[in-house]
Amino acid sequence: MANSVARGISGRRRIVLIVLLSIILPLLVVGYLGFNSISRRREAARKLYGMSLYISGEAALKSIEDKIRSFEKDMLAGGKETFSEAGRGRTFLLSADYMILNPEIAKKDEAPFTCSDGTDNRARGSYWAEAEKSEFQKKDFRLAAELYGKAAEASTSDRCRALARMALGRCRIALRDYSGALADFDELAAKYGRLRDSSGHPFGIIAAMRIADIEGLRGNEERRLSVLIELRGKIDDGAWPIDLAGYQFFRSEIEGTLEPRIKDHLYPELEKPYRLVKERATGFQEDLLFRDLLQTSIVLRIKEASALDPSISRDHPGRFLLPGERSSYLVSFSPAPAVGPGGPMIAGVCWETTSLMRSIVPSVLGALDKSSSVDLTLTDTAGKNILAEGLEGSSRLPATVGGAIPFSFREFPLPFKLVVSQPAMLDFDRAAARENAFYGLLILVVVVFMAVGAGLVVRDISRETQLTARKTEFVHTISHELKTPLTLIRLYAETLEQKPNLGDPEKKDALKIIAKESERLSHLINNVLDFSRIEMGRKEFDFRSGNLAAAVRETVESYRYHLEKKGFLIREEIAADLPAVRFDREAIASVVVNLLSNAMKFSPSEKDVGIRLSLESGQAVLRIADKGSGIAPADLPRIFDKFYRGGNDPSGGAGGSGLGLTLVKHIVEAHGGRVEARSECGKGSEFSVFLPILADPGE
Ligand code: ADP
Repeated sequence: MANSVARGISGRRRIVLIVLLSIILPLLVVGYLGFNSISRRREAARKLYGMSLYISGEAALKSIEDKIRSFEKDMLAGGKETFSEAGRGRTFLLSADYMILNPEIAKKDEAPFTCSDGTDNRARGSYWAEAEKSEFQKKDFRLAAELYGKAAEASTSDRCRALARMALGRCRIALRDYSGALADFDELAAKYGRLRDSSGHPFGIIAAMRIADIEGLRGNEERRLSVLIELRGKIDDGAWPIDLAGYQFFRSEIEGTLEPRIKDHLYPELEKPYRLVKERATGFQEDLLFRDLLQTSIVLRIKEASALDPSISRDHPGRFLLPGERSSYLVSFSPAPAVGPGGPMIAGVCWETTSLMRSIVPSVLGALDKSSSVDLTLTDTAGKNILAEGLEGSSRLPATVGGAIPFSFREFPLPFKLVVSQPAMLDFDRAAARENAFYGLLILVVVVFMAVGAGLVVRDISRETQLTARKTEFVHTISHELKTPLTLIRLYAETLEQKPNLGDPEKKDALKIIAKESERLSHLINNVLDFSRIEMGRKEFDFRSGNLAAAVRETVESYRYHLEKKGFLIREEIAADLPAVRFDREAIASVVVNLLSNAMKFSPSEKDVGIRLSLESGQAVLRIADKGSGIAPADLPRIFDKFYRGGNDPSGGAGGSGLGLTLVKHIVEAHGGRVEARSECGKGSEFSVFLPILADPGE
């Protein structure tokens, strides 16, 4: 029988599975097809977007390069510095043998010279030699000053006059004739400022430094510093022709004196002027840097490039990128239109790349942006947007811009990328992702619901099947249960009938057995009848307010005989002062009898029954405990199910109906109470019945 039940269950499960698959599979197929067509359509749209992006990018790139090319052409042809307009490019001109003709480079033209020989002017030569001797050997500064003065008068060249003026000043300082010395250096600066001394430094700068020294010697420190600040400003403005090395030398000299004093806030009035001078960027500084770049790198690279590429012409200028410390330079060069004395010259232009881009690109992109919905940005190799100046954080493009295309420059070796993206594309991607998630979720929800439904159906089917099996088993056991007492009754009745001369004790025994067995029979039949009444919904209760303790005690008394005969120890503890409870006397008696008969049935060895009725937190609680076999944990949750019988049945499956506890539960719940079972395998069980106490016992 168990086999056929199992087969029935698995057969139905299979049907459920097939039904389920026949719904889920088409659903999945439809879902897949839907997804597929959506994503194909999306792909087509994306391609269109991509194409328009590409076209916009190409157009922008071409406009930018066209613009640079036209600047380049103008500047190489005219050599004119249309400075701000042409992206701050600087032109230059080289001779055929790569000498820098333009811009003019400060030359250390004259060889170091001294005015102490008399080659051009005897008188001056001898005054000069005498003067130096007095100054450096005899330390007779007065005489030396006099002699230098004479040498100056006798000089025919400005440089010698300037040198003599400087020496004169020097001697006057030694003589502490500061106002005389100041006059000397003022004159030196005014008359011969742009000439150079024997180390190539302009007299103007030297004179100013001496003047500062004199102010210092006079104890006029603040004045000394302000002379230096003024000097620094003049040098920055290009008041004297110096090269980058000279500039850096004087700057560090001046800063070396000023910086520590300004930092210590000794002269607060000077702080602002000094800062202004220091932070100023002048054209002369830029010139110096450019000239230096020209001398140190550009000319060399042009030499190399023209050697490598003979096709460079005015129509095809040579171009290269010159990486610098802080930024890079784009250099273009071609044969100059004019021919110099040494042969054809080379014209060139040099751009600082970032400022070139900043002066050209925004206008080009602005024109394009208006005509299309694309976003155009220019990034450097690190991905930083170079057009958004100063917005360091936000200028960085998001790392994964959906559908952004980077374009590299083709004609010009520029270290930038033009990035074209379409904001609409981002929305498009986001919408697509949302749609995907929605459809996926929908299908998932449907599948989950179906799976849960199928699970419930399968569980229901197997429950139903088990119930059927239990019913069949019930019929079998009930017949068996009915048969035993009937056989006994018949047997003893026949004995009484056939043996009329039976002794009184025997007769009494036979009658007792007949009575007991018929009682058992009626209990069984009562249970079955009660159950069928419950099942049909016809069970009616006769609730009356009464003494629950008396009813329980009475039932226990009537059952005492059975228990004691089987050798049970009965421990009874029934509270006498229990408040009134509304209950059906017969039904509660049936609860007690069922629980007691279970305790008796499932206590094979230790025969001990505890019956306790008490008041616990406002409820009447009846506990019936035994020390019998206990209930397996797997059985425990199901013992109240109809026809359910645990595996601990001592009679091997024929000892009960599986209805007792079902009835108990039904009755207790009809009373508005509940029943609980606790059990430990091998140690015993305890059943507790909770019944509500009447609020108003008079009711
Ligand atoms: P029956 O006793 O006729 O089998 P019941 O509904 O009264 O049916 O009980 C259901 C099952 O619960 C029993 O088969 C048994 O496994 C378990 N059971 C009930 N009472 C006890 C008990 N006192 N000790 C051990 N097991 C019990």
